[in-house]
Amino acid sequence: MQLTRFTDLGLRVVMRLAVAAEGDRPGSRQVAEELAVSYTHATKVITRLAELGIVDARRGRGGGLAITELGRTASVGWLARRLEGDGEVVECDGAQPCPLRSGCRLRSALRRAQEAFFASLDTVTIDDLTQSPTRAVLLGLPRPADTNFQFSSAIGE
Ligand code: SF4
Repeated sequence: MQLTRFTDLGLRVVMRLAVAAEGDRPGSRQVAEELAVSYTHATKVITRLAELGIVDARRGRGGGLAITELGRTASVGWLARRLEGDGEVVECDGAQPCPLRSGCRLRSALRRAQEAFFASLDTVTIDDLTQSPTRAVLLGLPRPADTNFQFSSAIGE
């Protein structure tokens, strides 16, 4: 099974924030640059992470992004399910619905496989993801030259 880029980016952002020093609240533009992703994509996923209570995003002076306690302890499976949404592995009911969909054993088998995939991630927490060697990689990410970003109306920027 393949995760969407949205989910992968969400997990990357959370891992980055999980290693931030106490009181360090990077902005969304800084996080996007560090993770080498587009700012637009980063803000979309950060907005979703904030809705889920995984990230605390504040605007203005003293604002920025921080991981919440829920974010640290959440399971990767829990978070991946919410970032992925309710979509199935294959699209059976799309613009050209599959004629087998009224009674397809493959569909139910794929649903079980999808659930098993997420269940295998339920035993892993975000904290687990940021242990060695990932922690050192995250801490060694090149910081943007200008980290003194101005705050704007964008979430957590
Ligand atoms: S064969 Fe089954 S799983 Fe595949 S598209 Fe058709 S209904 Fe869905």
